[in-house]
Amino acid sequence: MRHGAMPALVIHGGAGVIRKDMHPERERAIRAALREALDQGQAALRAGRPALDAVTAAIAVLEDSPHFNAGRGAVFTHDGRNELDAAIMDGATLRAGSVAGVEHVRNPILLARAVMEHSPHVMLVGAGAEAFARTQDIVLVEPSWFRTEERWQQLQETLRHDAMGEHAAADHVRHFGTVGALALDMEGRLAAGTSTGGMTGKRWGRIGDAPVIGAGTWADARCAVSGTGWGEFYLRTAAAARIALRVELLGEPVAQAAEAVINGKIRALGGSGGAIVLDADGGIAMPFNTDGMFRGWVGTDGVPNVAIWNADEEARRAG
Ligand code: ASP
Repeated sequence: MRHGAMPALVIHGGAGVIRKDMHPERERAIRAALREALDQGQAALRAGRPALDAVTAAIAVLEDSPHFNAGRGAVFTHDGRNELDAAIMDGATLRAGSVAGVEHVRNPILLARAVMEHSPHVMLVGAGAEAFARTQDIVLVEPSWFRTEERWQQLQETLRHDAMGEHAAADHVRHFGTVGALALDMEGRLAAGTSTGGMTGKRWGRIGDAPVIGAGTWADARCAVSGTGWGEFYLRTAAAARIALRVELLGEPVAQAAEAVINGKIRALGGSGGAIVLDADGGIAMPFNTDGMFRGWVGTDGVPNVAIWNADEEARRAG
């Protein structure tokens, strides 16, 4: 294990349908929330705390913001509920914790971490996960905490499309927007976390990729990954682990490995989304095959950056 490494942090607030004509005020609020998440994560790293602390600090900020599909602001299920999924993984030890389908946990990422650190299990679901939460120092809230009018309207739109038999076409209104964070700490340890409300209109206890270790979330000694997008495709390709294994076994740089999975494998199957990837040398990749991906990063130069669109569009907007 290296000591005195330059820490790094990468976050996302989801890929997917991001309207290019997004209201400037909303865009400002989103950029500010991403920046706040970076600041909280970076503060943990600068204080010499472990990568896991930076990941949970950054994700908790995004879960509490109504602008992302995680915690407050999560999308609604088909029957009008918010069912939340989250996972965390420690690259140095391959320990992991995850929760799925929880409805009263304000910060699911904190519960995922408690599962990893204080239970003998990796993954807990629904009422059982919440029973465990009550034995821990975890804040529980009424379901109304998660509700935003905008997400409710998105569900109504999705239900209208579904009623017209446009199930596939309705994917354009499913509003991805999961959040994730990756950190590299001063000891050279990596960690990854992801938190989500899933996909608008999900049914029958559907669980996506985010809480499934290796699908939406992965960290090992070389590389950390958090995905966002149409979760079924990330599950079918074991997307996060596939990226990390390309890095480990094929020796590919993170950009190449991530590109092959996000713009290669997932796209070829008809899926969409993006991912953030961070390696143990501070190398960063953030590919997406959607219009945009809310994201932020602090590389080994220590400078915080936030972006939504591709590099050309960002440059055009910066004028
Ligand atoms: N991947 C998430 C899911 O399928 C959705 C998202 O990224 O927003 O549950």
